Amino acid sequence: MHFEHETLGQRVLFGTGTAAKHLAAEVARLGSRRVMVIASGSAADAAATLIDAIDVVLVYTDVAPHVSIEKADAARKAAAETDVDLIVCVGGGSTTGLAKAIALTTNLPIVAVPTTYAGSEATNVWGLTEQSRKTTGIDNAVLPISVVYDVELTLSLPVALSVASGLNALAHCVDSMWAPRTDPINQALAAEGVRALSSGLRLVVSNPDGPAGREKVLYGSYLAAVAFASAGSGLHHKICHVLGGAFDLPHAQTHATVLPHVLAFNAPYAADAEQRLASAFGSSTATDGLDTLRTDLNAPRALRDYGLTERDIPEAVRLIMPNVPAGNPRTVTPENLDALLRAALVGAVPGQ
Ligand code: NAD
Repeated sequence: MHFEHETLGQRVLFGTGTAAKHLAAEVARLGSRRVMVIASGSAADAAATLIDAIDVVLVYTDVAPHVSIEKADAARKAAAETDVDLIVCVGGGSTTGLAKAIALTTNLPIVAVPTTYAGSEATNVWGLTEQSRKTTGIDNAVLPISVVYDVELTLSLPVALSVASGLNALAHCVDSMWAPRTDPINQALAAEGVRALSSGLRLVVSNPDGPAGREKVLYGSYLAAVAFASAGSGLHHKICHVLGGAFDLPHAQTHATVLPHVLAFNAPYAADAEQRLASAFGSSTATDGLDTLRTDLNAPRALRDYGLTERDIPEAVRLIMPNVPAGNPRTVTPENLDALLRAALVGAVPGQ
């Protein structure tokens, strides 16, 4: 084996019903006295129950998907005006993304309290959107210093969104198998992520209010994000990144819909990844494993259900082609990418 691997450093505190205690302990450990809490929508109530024991100077709620430059600037200004010394973000990837946008220009530390399975809390990747074009970058300043996971905070996530978000996490695992910096360490994390996510998501669907499935999915989504942060963005993420930014498609559902098509596209050209994934799914092939899981979960199927149209495909191909990773297992051409997107658009059987 020959490889170079980098592990990002962060503390992870995981439990059920333990977020308030863990958060207070982290704030005390960091010696923070002027905390900015970012939480919006459904997470605002949850955040209110977590912050009694910490010194909060600002509760910020102006969060929206795809972090626009305008929203980022407004949040940075609010943080500067209140002289905050720590950001605590409670919510999904959009909330974590806003915290990262502030940290990018201020170096303020972040403690993340995730309530979805997006996994942004475990990566040093930031994303900002300006005039329908999403820019991402890597900077260790945006990596949360600590992550506080509490299964109870995820119980309110509706089943359909839990499935989409969990498949977004699964996409981190699958894409890690052939991403530019893939190596045996992030592949091992990704394979364990697939095992936890596929068994956990089935339990969430059969018993959404029980903690057992949620616990596995939250654990799996962390492994998935660590694998992804280490391996980098593969073909799947490059496709979804363009679709989300240029056509304003919802993040988790787009990942859930595109994933089986990228897997079917690459798997015949990536024997080792195929075998690792098949074994993690407990299935004869990786594509069968994902198809069966998606059927069991009643997963999102067609991009047209989320606003993409046939007219958008040529523009999507044009925007994606320059971003295709050089080491993708299968050579990507405008023609086969067009066919992949058309299959995802209508929810055709992957790979046919
Ligand atoms: P999101 O944060 O927009 O949340 C989706 C919806 O779920 C929102 O309406 C939110 O209010 C609601 N919600 C969140 N938690 C809930 C809960 N526990 N109960 C009920 N409702 C809840 O979406 P997301 O899928 O979590 O994150 C997507 C964003 O994260 C995208 O902008 C994406 O680019 C980014 N992301 C970044 C990285 C990274 O490494 N930088 C990784 C993954 C995702």
